[in-house]
Amino acid sequence: MLQTNNKTSMSFLRKAGVLPLVIGSVFIFSFTPRKEHKHAPIATTKKIVLVVDAGHGGTDHGTSSGSLIEKDLNLKVAKRLGELAPEHNIEVHLTRTGNETVSLTERVERSNKWKADDFISVHIDNQPGQDAGKGTFDIAINNKNAQAKKSEDLAVAIYQHLASTEWTQCKAPSEKSLYVLRSNNAPSVLIEIGDIKNKEQMKQLTDDTKLNALCHAILEGVADSHKE
Ligand SMILES: [Zn+2]
Repeated sequence: MLQTNNKTSMSFLRKAGVLPLVIGSVFIFSFTPRKEHKHAPIATTKKIVLVVDAGHGGTDHGTSSGSLIEKDLNLKVAKRLGELAPEHNIEVHLTRTGNETVSLTERVERSNKWKADDFISVHIDNQPGQDAGKGTFDIAINNKNAQAKKSEDLAVAIYQHLASTEWTQCKAPSEKSLYVLRSNNAPSVLIEIGDIKNKEQMKQLTDDTKLNALCHAILEGVADSHKE
């Protein structure tokens, strides 16, 4: 019964000249590319030396919430930035590569010794009332940095790229009195990547695709700030 019905409907469609259209549409729709964020790396002709500073470490845990510890999340993001950096012609040096205690002075000394073109300190925030909604990023700069104007340009470039990613909002760069920014020879910014109490945001840091998108956005901002 079913087969007969099928034959009838197929011959009806063929007679009506609809079949080629139906087959054509199926073909087109099966090969229509899915609408995904296509990553086109921004890279400069000159290699950029970027020092990435994973905040805290060792005996200094930073902030925490449940099983989440800031020093571990910071290091995860810092390492991912290092892994993806070559696509943007950026060479990343990390102020710490494991769970060790590194003083603020050592962090700045390392950055200056490596002659960083840019310095990014990675942190996670813990603000009251940040456990709902998408939460925000916070990018900080310091106007006493030797290259304050370039720090601001870097912060704005990163801000623009982060703000264009789909997964969170981003606040405009703000002025903060922080040693690692103030004493660094390189243009320097500190990014608070989300809030540790914000479950939705922290989940994004464990999703590889989203973490990569976040890191690419930061690296694109760095590369963009060096475009002539
Ligand atoms: Zn921190």
